[in-house]
Amino acid sequence: MQELLTHPVVSGLLVMTLVGVLAYKAGFLDISGMISAFVVGFAVWYTGGPPAFTILLFFFLTSGLATKFKYKAKAKQGLAQEGKGKRSYKNVLASGIIPLFFSVAWYIARVYPSLGIDPFWMFGGFVGAVATTAADTLASEIGVFSKSKPRLITNLRRKVPRGTIGAVSLLGEAVAAAAGLAIGIIAIFFALVSSGTAWGSVPVANAAQFMFIIPLAILTGFIGCNLDSLIGAIAQNRFVCEICGAITDKEFHCSYETKYVGGFKRFTNIHVNLGSSTMGATLGIVLGAGLFVWILGGLFFWIAASSSS
Ligand SMILES: [Zn+2]
Repeated sequence: MQELLTHPVVSGLLVMTLVGVLAYKAGFLDISGMISAFVVGFAVWYTGGPPAFTILLFFFLTSGLATKFKYKAKAKQGLAQEGKGKRSYKNVLASGIIPLFFSVAWYIARVYPSLGIDPFWMFGGFVGAVATTAADTLASEIGVFSKSKPRLITNLRRKVPRGTIGAVSLLGEAVAAAAGLAIGIIAIFFALVSSGTAWGSVPVANAAQFMFIIPLAILTGFIGCNLDSLIGAIAQNRFVCEICGAITDKEFHCSYETKYVGGFKRFTNIHVNLGSSTMGATLGIVLGAGLFVWILGGLFFWIAASSSS
């Protein structure tokens, strides 16, 4: 009986049924969102095991709570997620498909060592993708409460109304880094419990990889989140609110219809999220592959060079 319960398929179905029902009851997801979350969650549990699943669950719970946090106040200012904050299959897939891809890649690297892929690289990709998405979601849901007006990422001297696409604030940046840190801490916890290539372990092969986990999670979360703002500011479809002047991705603002002003018309927030989490994952692989020292060194010289000129 116990053997049956601990089989990844059985435990995954049990865990996902519980999480799915609770998430639906809490109003985090609509029906389509619940079904797709069930599929993504189960596949991540089966391939990446409890460490991958817990990291994804952290994102899911915190973003659900952050979306609900002061929802009415955000809705009044046109800053809230549509549909009473319930996310549909589109949101679930936009934030879950890249992590799922890397969870499967991590599984393949683990099960077929002859391929010569270090599972830690794919683990890095997974962490990078989730950290980016979590940082971006939490930074936007909480960053709107920043007391000072946000600035535009493509022109930091320019102050813009809250909710503007590509708007960044110090609070948002701090939240992004904290989200990465939290994911790093979860990963470290699991690495301490069990590391290696078995199911449910964090694929850490040496002390250096272990030391990389937290910086990797913070850097991918922070950089990925800012890349998201940058891609959004450059390419996303934009509408202007003729009442308050906010530039937004919403077709309604201040209870009135907004006017289309620019960006690629079919390039929505979903595409921006997919793009940024792919970049976050790529960065995670690069960092996981041990190019950390090079990147930090390069960053150091770049800052040194730009501050001396
Ligand atoms: Zn407005």
